[in-house]
Amino acid sequence: MDLTLVAESPYRFRLEQQDPMRVPGVVFATRELLPQAAGDKSLEQVANVATLPGVVRASFAMPDVHWGYGFPIGGVAATDIDAGGVVSPGGVGFDISCGVRLLAADLDTGRLAPRMRQLMDTLGHTVPRGTGRGGLWHLTGPGQMAELLAGGAVYAVGRGHGVPRDLDRCEDGGRLPGADPSGVGPRAVERGLGQVGSLGAGNHFLEVQAVDRVYDEETAAAFGLRAGQVCVMIHTGSRGLGHQVCTDHVRAMDQALRTYRISLPDRQLACAPVDSPPGRAYLGAMAAAANYGRANRQLLGQAARRAFASAVGADLELVYDVSHNTAKLETHEVDGAPVRLCVHRKGATRALPPGDPELPEDLAAAGQPVLVPGSMGTASYVLVGTVGNDAFRSACHGAGRVWSRHQALRQVRGEELRGELEARGIAVRPSSWRGLAEEAPRAYKDVDAVAAATEGAGLARLVVRLRPLGVVKG
Ligand code: 5GP
Ligand code: MN
Ligand code: MN
Repeated sequence: MDLTLVAESPYRFRLEQQDPMRVPGVVFATRELLPQAAGDKSLEQVANVATLPGVVRASFAMPDVHWGYGFPIGGVAATDIDAGGVVSPGGVGFDISCGVRLLAADLDTGRLAPRMRQLMDTLGHTVPRGTGRGGLWHLTGPGQMAELLAGGAVYAVGRGHGVPRDLDRCEDGGRLPGADPSGVGPRAVERGLGQVGSLGAGNHFLEVQAVDRVYDEETAAAFGLRAGQVCVMIHTGSRGLGHQVCTDHVRAMDQALRTYRISLPDRQLACAPVDSPPGRAYLGAMAAAANYGRANRQLLGQAARRAFASAVGADLELVYDVSHNTAKLETHEVDGAPVRLCVHRKGATRALPPGDPELPEDLAAAGQPVLVPGSMGTASYVLVGTVGNDAFRSACHGAGRVWSRHQALRQVRGEELRGELEARGIAVRPSSWRGLAEEAPRAYKDVDAVAAATEGAGLARLVVRLRPLGVVKG
């Protein structure tokens, strides 16, 4: 395939439709951000996704796009359910409902400074992370697991892990509907029982941050944010349970490809019609795993609250919790008519504009917070959804990798990196030197450029910039 991009604007590039693509590709980026990293196959992946049965409008890539399993990370694609459109586990990713939760403290940086060390030590000791350290909430068995898989953060709050207001500030009210716990296999359940309330590996983190720039005072205020304020950003997903659900269903769909006469340019795009037994089975299990991810972040938010209460006597209010690895059934207008779609966002964040009926009342006039982590040594951003986003109301989910983990390990030593960050006033509580090196700030794109391109492309608008004060690394 010819992967030549045509600039449609300084922030939007088009990959012409060509056989066997069914729609064009659209890459939101600047020239500098276009995937240049050697060996990055993300453009080819954008083209491959454009071949999926039922795909509509375009195969989209966000400014943080990079190579992933089947779909690129930073990829968005929607399929028409009533026209045989497919769902693909590779379009969600292995870490189902991985996402970001942002909490705001009733505290400014000045008051935190003398207690910062104690806060970081408390967080470092109480937040389970790395592999095999268990979680904050040990479920009693498969019965309780089924309730959690059906209820997500709603179930967690019902069991005392949080306050009802938290749920107003969670995507889907904290619970993705349509979950089918019976589609989550015994191995997945076993892996998940002891991991509720745990970060997992290196790219996941709990970070203490400060609001260091406000672009839009009014929207920031609606989100509960102001200059100089201390925040906590949590990034994690559905741990071993979600991974196992993805593995199990990729295998099932791979075996079903012939039944549905689907031919694919890449087996990693294994998929099935949304409206088919394997499609429905995956979506039910995926929603269950998504609920696990949402309960997981709810538990970690509570751990942060306890640490803030004991170390600094401050409260944390939830700003928002949003996933960036999902497939959701949504209705969007396509060619002037409402169409039922399965929207895959893989390393991409939903971005509802002001006035969207799904927004909680107190965010209706402002729009949805779009949470964009950068790296432990650079800024992170909060943006807001805008009217006119034609990528099915989606935006970027991070800075995006430029170096593979392997490349990062060759370039960076964890001990040195910690020293560099501490010298810049960023407290680091690593889980392993290796994990830390893999997540070096240099392994990621320039988040300021990614955020600016996201705004330039009209996907979302800047609200505040956050700078890191301390990071607890997975
Ligand atoms: P992913 O979900 O693709 O693993 O990661 C999302 C984004 O998180 C990455 O693209 C990267 O920009 C960001 N990120 C990774 N590690 C850290 C960290 O320690 N702190 C912050 N603020 N962002 C990070
Ligand atoms: Mn993840
Ligand atoms: Mn993630």
